[in-house]
Amino acid sequence: MILRLDDPAAARAWCARERDAGRTIGFVPTMGALHAGHLSLVERALAENDRACVSVFVNPLQFDEAQDFDHYPRDFGADVDLLDGVGCSMVFTGTLAGFFPDELDDAGALRPEFSVDPGPAALGLEGACRDGHFEGVATIVDRLFDVVGPTRAYFGQKDYQQSLVVGDLAARRGAPEVVVCPIAREPHGLARSSRNERLSPDDRERAAVISRALGAADEAWRAGDRDADALARRMRDVLAGEPRFALEYAELRDPAAWTADAPTGPLARAVALVAGRFGDVRLIDNRVLGDAS
Ligand code: AMP
Repeated sequence: MILRLDDPAAARAWCARERDAGRTIGFVPTMGALHAGHLSLVERALAENDRACVSVFVNPLQFDEAQDFDHYPRDFGADVDLLDGVGCSMVFTGTLAGFFPDELDDAGALRPEFSVDPGPAALGLEGACRDGHFEGVATIVDRLFDVVGPTRAYFGQKDYQQSLVVGDLAARRGAPEVVVCPIAREPHGLARSSRNERLSPDDRERAAVISRALGAADEAWRAGDRDADALARRMRDVLAGEPRFALEYAELRDPAAWTADAPTGPLARAVALVAGRFGDVRLIDNRVLGDAS
């Protein structure tokens, strides 16, 4: 039976007891509305650690749009049941005041001096499209690492740039080990996301165009194309065939040398990244070119 805690202080005490007993903790931070992608991270955490622990917190610090935060799906009871079903040891939630008891101003906002610098991986793409997003991510993940003190923390490749930001954060802290897990997809290719629930059935079908565009870049890569511009054009051509999709970016980066802008010249390694909207639902996806996925 899963242990459910509604207070970060109680979670901190439980994790400390587990660590003191010599048990390893695999930690999966989430914003809830859990799906098979999240559960694949929890299963990996369970397989590699004595305990698996999950946080469910829709972090207001990382939302640049109030309406995206307001509409973000929330069903903590259903999340707890799903986590119980896969054998998760503990799940906890909290409020901004619970996570930052001494760091908020009188209006309940985080005082700027407590914001954590997300580092250079936050530059460009998501960092450019979503003002303050990665500061919000780094600030909450830093605090979650303080609360849990995990042996390993599990993140999805789905949020590619985020996985770089938290990897850098963990390296600066000296722990935990960050494990990046493959993207779980719907049968027609759309990357699983809590936001998919907000798509109409028609848009949910149409949204498979994003993974088709990434597939086109991968095909060109395997055929020998190494030019970032040409690979990006391949993706944009596919995406332009879907009139409901409003493109924000379709770009390439070198995964081993993150840059704010698209690299020029031939690429030795490449990750293709796409973001855009169907109506007011924003979706992101990516693919490391030449990889198995
Ligand atoms: P979120 O609840 O969206 O903040 O996601 C929590 C964690 O689950 C993050 O590390 C995400 O990258 C990961 N995640 C979300 N969707 C997927 C997916 N489709 N496949 C694998 N991991 C995912």
